[in-house]
Amino acid sequence: MRVLMLILDGLGDKQYKLLRNKTPLEFARAPNLKKMGELGETGLMFTLGPGIIPGSDTAHLALFGYDPLEYYQGRGVYEALGAGIKLKPSDVAFRVNFATVKNGKIVDRRAGRNGFGLDELAEEINGWKIKNVKIIFKHTVEHRAVLVLRGKNLSKAVSDTDPHREGVPPRKPEPLDKSKNAKLTSNILQTFLEKANKLLENHTINKKRKRRGLLPANTLLVRGAGQYHRIPSIKELYGITATGIAGGALYKGVARFVGMDVLEVPGATGDKNTNLHAKAEAAVNAKTDIVFLHVKATDSFSHDHDYKGKSKFIEKVDKELVPRIMKEFDIVFVSGDHTTLSSIGQHTADPLPLLIYGDESLIRRDLGKFSERYATLGQYRIFGLDVLPILLSKIGILGKYGE
Ligand code: ZN
Ligand code: ZN
Repeated sequence: MRVLMLILDGLGDKQYKLLRNKTPLEFARAPNLKKMGELGETGLMFTLGPGIIPGSDTAHLALFGYDPLEYYQGRGVYEALGAGIKLKPSDVAFRVNFATVKNGKIVDRRAGRNGFGLDELAEEINGWKIKNVKIIFKHTVEHRAVLVLRGKNLSKAVSDTDPHREGVPPRKPEPLDKSKNAKLTSNILQTFLEKANKLLENHTINKKRKRRGLLPANTLLVRGAGQYHRIPSIKELYGITATGIAGGALYKGVARFVGMDVLEVPGATGDKNTNLHAKAEAAVNAKTDIVFLHVKATDSFSHDHDYKGKSKFIEKVDKELVPRIMKEFDIVFVSGDHTTLSSIGQHTADPLPLLIYGDESLIRRDLGKFSERYATLGQYRIFGLDVLPILLSKIGILGKYGE
């Protein structure tokens, strides 16, 4: 028996007047998701716990059955693994945004979410040496990139330079403890950023971007320093095989980290233009016990305060992806990794709706629906860490405890 975990990133939201007081999920014309919700089991999930605002990385660890308190190693690690970089335990990895500054202040933390020319910029930076430290630098999707410092005596105890808001200058990296290694690493990072920002400032790529009406990618913001060490795989921990399908590097990275077989699906871009047909097809053809299928754009629309766009995109998922997977899996789990409120453009700790759909013999139908508010009539009130055991139990992989 096979399980599909469909994660629509940042799915949870709130009601908006312009959506006739419905949430983006409730407002979407999504007959397939609606049907699955009505025939399936529903409820609400706190991915990490009440009051804890999940990051996408920690939230996905929990959904895969890994307690983030025990296994989390810093966002940079997952971004780098997802970008296909083979990390050594002595490396320090960071998530990077190409961003736009004007008169020293950040005007867009994501350089308009546009990746034009960024591969080329990244290639120029990749391979630099700062003192004895090698720079590995790779552009991934939209404005996102990965930085790995490779050398001796490096530390992950370095602060973010991304202030996580606009209208202020980027921060300087600071050591987060008193060790020599933290000081060394923050110095190297500072030297690197000065050199990189100088390169970006007047680069021909940025002149081209401006001519196309795009924001210049004239600074780098780094965050989420992490160091990698191997953990037990999902096979070792749960005795199951698993496939990961995603466009964004972070999600591929977390999937790879727990030992999933990560597929490179052509056209899976991690943005609103992603090829949902191709992702559904790849999921159907995967032969593992569990298939994790990630869709990112729901979260991006929320970060951009576009609740209508989010609702429309849910309709697109319902039309282009859901019909293909509905009947192919014994159990289909649909939810998100956290709530992202479009009103404030940020993740919040609010619980989000989930649905479990499958063969009638495995499902106890609920009164609830797949909706933030109707989910309150459903049977589940769970944490992210509960999801995998519930799904494995449905397909008979988790056995009886006692006689
Ligand atoms: Zn997320
Ligand atoms: Zn997000």
